[in-house]
Amino acid sequence: MKVARFHAPGDIRVEDADEPVAGPGELRIRVRNCSTCGTDAKILKHGHHHIRPPRVMGHEIAGEVVDGTDGWAPGDRVQVIAAIPCGTCGECRRGRMTVCPNQESMGYHYDGGFAEYMVVPAKVLAVDGVNRIPEGVGFAEASVAEPLACVLNGQELARVGEGDDVVVMGSGPIGCLHVRLARSRGAARVFLVDVNAGRLEAAAALVRPDAAVHGGSESAGSAGDAVEQVLKLTEGRGADVVITAAASGAAQEQALRMAARQGRISFFGGLPKDDPIIRCDSNLVHYRELTIVGANGSSPAHNARALELIAGGAVPVADLITHRLPLPEVLDGIDIVSRGEAIKVTVEP
Ligand SMILES: [Zn+2]
Ligand SMILES: [Zn+2]
Repeated sequence: MKVARFHAPGDIRVEDADEPVAGPGELRIRVRNCSTCGTDAKILKHGHHHIRPPRVMGHEIAGEVVDGTDGWAPGDRVQVIAAIPCGTCGECRRGRMTVCPNQESMGYHYDGGFAEYMVVPAKVLAVDGVNRIPEGVGFAEASVAEPLACVLNGQELARVGEGDDVVVMGSGPIGCLHVRLARSRGAARVFLVDVNAGRLEAAAALVRPDAAVHGGSESAGSAGDAVEQVLKLTEGRGADVVITAAASGAAQEQALRMAARQGRISFFGGLPKDDPIIRCDSNLVHYRELTIVGANGSSPAHNARALELIAGGAVPVADLITHRLPLPEVLDGIDIVSRGEAIKVTVEP
């Protein structure tokens, strides 16, 4: 079979491999869709300290059961989690599976979904990490349940709810999912901000925010622009929730300044490892009673609920899938993602 393997930064190869065999307690699936995201682009460029090469990449996985274990039958349509909590540590026992210190990941510690066949590790099944895809939901849509699960975790932590004015900074696939999810959670108004006018326009045409805010050029000088515009849009109050869906310290600093009193700020996107320090006016946090929250992936339960949100139509994703590529073109797919020219690129092995 064909797989896409990471060998070293800049070196992902599409090559032949033996079909994997499911061991006891494991499930073998025929991968139908494995979608790509910014993480894949990051891995291609820099590698990742959890990946010991060679490793089949791909973590947004949907497919069909071929053979395996109790409770599953050949032909079952399934979606698979990416982040695997251990299920037994102190955090997991407290239900905080997204911050399990023993977390492992598909496509990092285990071979992932850029392959015709993939084995679902017993560890995934042990934490209910395999979800049945409801009827009427395609494999490509189901593969988007994983990023949506992460977005759901972020909005739960930031308590996005009824009547909130929400700002989403960054109009990539994650930003688009944030806009849609915020709407489904009852947000009053959702504003989408990006520094890239072309990308913002394309995203806004799809997810229709109440306003698309062009944050000016990435170069210094116009940094205040997005803040001013959001304040104007919110009658000077600021936004109840600001979510940064971009790896940008400047966006995080702006987020703090455009939040309303008692606002919640989600640092959803992480910053580059070598440049993670931002300037934060502590008095802004103090007097305005701001809450700053992080977000680290998703739990198995988030994945199950994300799939329900897609299936029930609360968060449509089909129109966000702009590119479908066969496995041999996976590198083109990752390239399209890193250039920001797509919303969602899915690989069909
Ligand atoms: Zn991803
Ligand atoms: Zn754990």
